[in-house]
Amino acid sequence: MEEMEDVWRRLKLNDEEESSIEIQQDVVGLTKLKGERSLVGKVISDRKIGRDIVRSMMEKMWKVGKPLEFHDIGSNCFVISFVNRRDKVRVLDGCPWLFDNHLFVLKDFDGESQPSQFDFDHACLWMQMLNLPLSYMNKKMGEVIGRSVGEVMEVDVQEDGVAWGRCLRVKVDCDLRRPLARGRTIVVEGRSSWVPFQYEKLPRICFNCGRIIHEKDGCKEREGNSS
Ligand SMILES: [Zn+2]
Repeated sequence: MEEMEDVWRRLKLNDEEESSIEIQQDVVGLTKLKGERSLVGKVISDRKIGRDIVRSMMEKMWKVGKPLEFHDIGSNCFVISFVNRRDKVRVLDGCPWLFDNHLFVLKDFDGESQPSQFDFDHACLWMQMLNLPLSYMNKKMGEVIGRSVGEVMEVDVQEDGVAWGRCLRVKVDCDLRRPLARGRTIVVEGRSSWVPFQYEKLPRICFNCGRIIHEKDGCKEREGNSS
């Protein structure tokens, strides 16, 4: 899609092409209504994935009573319509989702941007921060450490803000083009310690560089040289 845009930029438009068509808002009407119970999504995979396979698998995983509507809008990109808005919100809240171990990045319906502008390079992942001192297992700590990875969307704590348990769960909006964070070093009262991360529903990542998405020309790390 980007390549097409490059071609565009080089094009010299003739008068007819350049004179713009004013679009009235009443053009969108019904489409917008349907958008309210729809999502856009992309399966992150180098291989082309068939729409019907994704649809039938996700219908089971999402436990929707009525069939979903899936339309291709790009390479492994779909617009997905649910029978009602409630189902859509439930699925969106349940992110991340995997299709055959590939991350299925979902975003709320956006009817105004061009599909080439959709941001499928970021997605929310649930991180588990392990081995934290008990006094630091709380909302604030989750936010502080989580922020070093990406935007913190949620910290799983009790009503009093405390989260004692096996781990501290934090939902972070991650940049999938960067190597997945494996942990962070924290310093508590002068003593530094390593806090390892685990991910819930971890998708397939590159074994060389730890990324979920590569740039156009593929993996740049040499084998065994991970950083
Ligand atoms: Zn790689």
